[in-house]
Amino acid sequence: MAVNLKPFMNARLVERTDFSAERAKFVFEPERPVQFKPGQYVTLGVLNGDGIIQRAYSIASSPHEPRLELFIELVKHGELTPRLFDLKDGDSVLMRERLVGAFVLDPAGPRRRLLIATGTGIAPFVSMARWKHEELRHGRDDGDEFLVLHGGSRAPDLGNYCDELAVLAKGGWLHYVPTVSRPWEDGNWTGETGRVEDTIRKHADNYGYHAGNSVAYLCGNPDMIEYAKPLLKRARFPKERVKEEKYFTTTGTTED
Ligand SMILES: Cc1cc2nc3c(=O)[nH]c(=O)nc-3n(C[C@H](O)[C@H](O)[C@H](O)COP(=O)(O)OP(=O)(O)OC[C@H]3O[C@@H](n4cnc5c(N)ncnc54)[C@H](O)[C@@H]3O)c2cc1C
Repeated sequence: MAVNLKPFMNARLVERTDFSAERAKFVFEPERPVQFKPGQYVTLGVLNGDGIIQRAYSIASSPHEPRLELFIELVKHGELTPRLFDLKDGDSVLMRERLVGAFVLDPAGPRRRLLIATGTGIAPFVSMARWKHEELRHGRDDGDEFLVLHGGSRAPDLGNYCDELAVLAKGGWLHYVPTVSRPWEDGNWTGETGRVEDTIRKHADNYGYHAGNSVAYLCGNPDMIEYAKPLLKRARFPKERVKEEKYFTTTGTTED
């Protein structure tokens, strides 16, 4: 059976930064301009015999940027990521034309956003923060405030977003707290330590993010999300104010 390439276009890799052997930033130039909202994802694919291996990736760039930035973790036994990590500048992959996803900022909800990520799960929050920064630059302020909690085992798991978010934090509308759970493997680490889910109460209380004024977004590792949900429930966050984007399941990928 012929492969249906109609929903796809090509996207060329124009920049790549490796933070470790297993985490890298990929910047793609789509064949045609794309439209999306901060928090949405793109589906990348590669031909494989008479099929396409395709997986979802949250977009780290903001809609005003012409290129798509992704933050990807290598799953050594995975089908797609080893192929992506073999890509070099100038190589192309397939990209679904439609960029989709419901993990977006709800304009009707509370103005405080408690954004909690593991590793590459920071991508949608980077997009939201860049978008908000751009809005402010154009004099548009909807009053949104972000508290971003970002966890990894070691500093390279966080990519290079620490520096960028720390700069944006100077604007006062964003707080960023990176944490590593294996500080003994990171001699230079001076920040927060522990798993991100174990730091939620402390930092939410510290910055005044609570059920009365906030909506929580959980992104990345499903174990973190499953741990954080009851914690937020105990803090009286109603179900509809806890949004989640699980990157995989323990029984198979959650890609559509
Ligand atoms: C909406 C959405 C957005 C996503 N955004 C990103 C993103 O921004 N960056 C990113 O790196 N990934 C993201 N993912 C995950 C991505 O779609 C793939 O699942 C992942 O890259 C693995 O693909 P693979 O083909 O290499 O592995 P697969 O062949 O799909 O998986 C092999 C096995 O590994 C497990 N697995 C998959 N991912 C991981 C992991 N990270 N750690 C441990 N085990 C895993 C699977 O459950 C499966 O059992 C997202 C997923 C969804 C649903």
